[in-house]
This record gives sequence, structure tokens and C-alpha cells, in this order.
Amino acid sequence: MLVYSHSKLETFENCALRYRFKYIDRIEKPDEQGVEAFLGKRVHEGLQKLYEDLRGGRTHSLDEILKSYREGWRRQWAPGIKIVRRGATERDYLLYGETCLTNYYRRYSPFAQSETLATEEHFQFPLDSNSCYAMQGYIDRVGRRADGTYEIHDYKTSRRLPTQDAVDCDRQLGLYQIALQKERPDARSVDLFWHYMGHDRTLRSTRQPKQLVQLCETTTKLIENIEREKRFEPHKSPLCDWCEYKPECPVWSRSNHGHMRTVHTGGHRKSKKPKGIVNSILGWLKKPL
Ligand code: SF4
Repeated sequence: MLVYSHSKLETFENCALRYRFKYIDRIEKPDEQGVEAFLGKRVHEGLQKLYEDLRGGRTHSLDEILKSYREGWRRQWAPGIKIVRRGATERDYLLYGETCLTNYYRRYSPFAQSETLATEEHFQFPLDSNSCYAMQGYIDRVGRRADGTYEIHDYKTSRRLPTQDAVDCDRQLGLYQIALQKERPDARSVDLFWHYMGHDRTLRSTRQPKQLVQLCETTTKLIENIEREKRFEPHKSPLCDWCEYKPECPVWSRSNHGHMRTVHTGGHRKSKKPKGIVNSILGWLKKPL
């Protein structure tokens, strides 16, 4: 069974060559990390601590969560972490993460909206009836309200706030709902939440069973296209500045000659809108910290 994740699919949709470098050639770049990803991980750690300790009966103050966040930041910061945005500093991002946590804490304290059943919960489920493909991922938080409704929560540190229409057809949390309902047959009613903490906004959506069936079908088709792909063409975009494979990429080589015969750098590929997390990175470019 071939195992995919939402981010793996998104990588292909945004640049097939980057997908090839990462998932087929498996060129490892252990020290390459953008500050946006680093910030997201530290904020997620803060919220995981908050909810896991709540499950154990301890409610942290905001100061305690911020202290733990700063300590995690200092402990794990490494010189190789890339800040692409011109004029921005490590401190700008550190403070923005504090804003995200503070907004979330003040909005939801004392966190009694639902019982937390799991944080950072791993899942894997077969996508198609022949079990050729599986999806895997991690759900930031699974909650259950007193009326039995399940909640799937996703924390976002992006500067870019999507529209309601965009979250209503978001693939990632739709797949998470399928995973949740396979694991928990009593989860008949599920609400999906996206917490855009920098904006102090929460977006909410639901999925009908028919939409989830369609989602499985479209995701399976996308995977079949990836499996058939031969060319793996590069897609030059502002996101290249965040790409760990820029040194290997023929689009950016001095001679601009591809070193791989399967790569075609001609500009005939129709320009497309980047998706998901990369879309949100673009948001960082456009807005002040
Ligand atoms: S540098 Fe740009 S075009 Fe090249 S692999 Fe990375 S994302 Fe694709």
C-alpha cells in the first residue's frame, strides 16, 4: 500500500520537481528549515502542553505557556533556520508566536468548550476500496462536546486568512474527518475548526457524507496521476525562496540547463495558484510582522 499525506500531495501540486527531489530521490536536507515552520512547531508544542496537562487536571496560566514556548524556542533554535523575508528578524517571529498563543489563550480560557480526547493524534486509513493507497497524518486536537459532537481542531500560525468558501472545501480537514470516523464509529456528528491565531479568528465547517465520498475519489485520482507522472517539471514561483532544493534546481542553476533529462524548464506549464501551507507562506511575504 502506498502511503500519502496531505503535505505530500500539496508538494506535488505546487511543484512536481520538488516532489521528486523530496519523495522519490529522497535528497535529505536535515538542517534546512524555514522560520515559519519552526514557529508553527513551537506554537503547536505550547498548545499540546496546555491541553495534555489539562487532561491531567492542571490548568496552566498564560505566563506559564509563554515561558515554556520561549524556552522551547531558545533550546531548539539553530543557526541554519532560514529567514527569507527581508528585514525580518528571529525576534519578530518569536513575538508573533507569543501573539498567537496569547490570542488563543484569551479566547478559549478556561478551555471548557469540549473534552480533549487526543492531541497530535496519528492516523492512517486506506483511501480506496482496493487498498492501493492510504492517507496518514496528525490531528492537532480531537475534542468531544457534551452533546456527543466531535471536534477536529487545526492550529494555524499563517498570516493569511482564508475565506469561508476555501475552508468549506479544504482537503486536509476533510481527510481528517474520514480518519476520525473510521477510528470512532460513534462520531456521527463532526465539526471542523481552523484557528488562525495571529488574526484571533476561528473558522468552522462541516462535511456531508457525500462530500467525503467525493473527497476520497478525487484524492485517489490525484495519487494515480502522481504515480503515472514521468516529467516532474519545475514550477518557478515566489515559493522557490523557501525551497530546500534550490541549489539542485535547474531553474535556478547559473547556466539554467537542466542536469536531469526528465526535467523540462520551458515556460509552457500553465501558472497555477499555490495551495495550503505554501499559500500561507506567501501571506508572510505580503504582510508586515
Ligand atoms: S526551486 Fe522552485 S522550481 Fe525548483 S524545485 Fe524548488 S520549488 Fe520547484
